[in-house]
Amino acid sequence: MNPQDLIRKKRDGGKFSTAEINAFIKGVCDETWADYQISALVMAIFINGLRQSEQNALTEAMLNSGEVLDFSDIDAPVADKHSTGGVGDKTSLLIAPIAAACGVVVPMISGRGLGHTGGTLDKLESVPNYNVNLSIEEFKKIVKKCGFAMTGQTAEIAPADKKLYALRDATATIESVPLIVGSIMSKKLSEGLDALCLDVKTGSGAFMQSEREARKLAKALVKTGNACGVKTEAVISDMNQPLGKYVGNALEVFECLNILRGETDKLSGQTLDLSIELTARILILTGVCDSVKNAKAKINNVLASGEALERFRANIEAQGGDPKICDKPEILLDKNLLEVKIKSPESGYVLEIDATEIGKAVAAIGGGRFQIDDKIDYAVGYSCDKKLGDKVKEHEPLGTLFCRNEGQAAKILAKLQMAYKINVEKPSGKFELVKEIIS
Ligand code: URA
Repeated sequence: MNPQDLIRKKRDGGKFSTAEINAFIKGVCDETWADYQISALVMAIFINGLRQSEQNALTEAMLNSGEVLDFSDIDAPVADKHSTGGVGDKTSLLIAPIAAACGVVVPMISGRGLGHTGGTLDKLESVPNYNVNLSIEEFKKIVKKCGFAMTGQTAEIAPADKKLYALRDATATIESVPLIVGSIMSKKLSEGLDALCLDVKTGSGAFMQSEREARKLAKALVKTGNACGVKTEAVISDMNQPLGKYVGNALEVFECLNILRGETDKLSGQTLDLSIELTARILILTGVCDSVKNAKAKINNVLASGEALERFRANIEAQGGDPKICDKPEILLDKNLLEVKIKSPESGYVLEIDATEIGKAVAAIGGGRFQIDDKIDYAVGYSCDKKLGDKVKEHEPLGTLFCRNEGQAAKILAKLQMAYKINVEKPSGKFELVKEIIS
């Protein structure tokens, strides 16, 4: 099967067999296909799409291009969650220890932040000495010991995706549902899962801003996961404002530790609520619980008893961090930061928040990266003091920026202020954190 024939077939809207998809992924991995041929086929897929059988074959071929982990020697169900990315989206840090405390094994292979969205690995690296570059052997050992571990992608996991993603990035073909599905699912399924819960975000801070687009992606991910033998569900959740209280790496870990310590406040409550919703789906998918009511009761028990916090403590210790942050989360905060209030220009109610602008503002002062090798300032960030629907008086703070100096603040202050739309009248619509569950 030569590359030209396969490119021509998809260019003309044809349907690939599994053997043809396998030949393509083999060519990507053994470098018998040139980058321009891979790019041409990727563009043909971008334009003409894939049918479900092709989608399944692509995902399996990308998955099998690398190592697939096996946790069958542990007598517990194996599950994970994946988020399509958002601002202040920190639920992984809660879901992993909570699910582990409920008896589910969570081998979480995560990513870094890029652009306006954060990444779990960067958040974890704000904990001094926490190692997110585990070898597969170390990763498996910690999963066995603590019930969960969190690490970055190794060269052994889905290598076809690494090559394809770089070419998609360079050829304007990232935004293709079948290519996104192959990319996400090949990496997640390499964890050797029984179940997967996807958090597909929609709104001003999400990649899929409209609910229609989010639903399309969610349905494609769920169909493919189930076809590949992993019980998969998606939760479509709100990203019309940053999730919870803080945006910024150390601040987000601080928020999660406080929640695990039972010190949840009104602003961080939303982080806990979404984490409970997603973990409950995991407990049902894995058969640990038979109803949402029972799952939530189990989750609340492991939070109240401190078992979830103790799981996190054991994991931090195993991955090289200082477990004392579980007793004193404030150790993570840098006392030398400048706190600048973002004041409301008028009295009224918060009608809209541009979460992407808030994510970009934090990234612009070093809290995130625009290029893959940008250095991160883990301490800087933003506190969302007012959320959608909240009443605000003129000059009252909408949020607080934690930055290094006045120069940084001056650079982004106006953008942060403009990220909020204030209305004299109270918004009438009901805020929904979970919009839909796709099974
Ligand atoms: N995240 C991924 O891992 N892959 C994509 O293609 C898009 C988002």
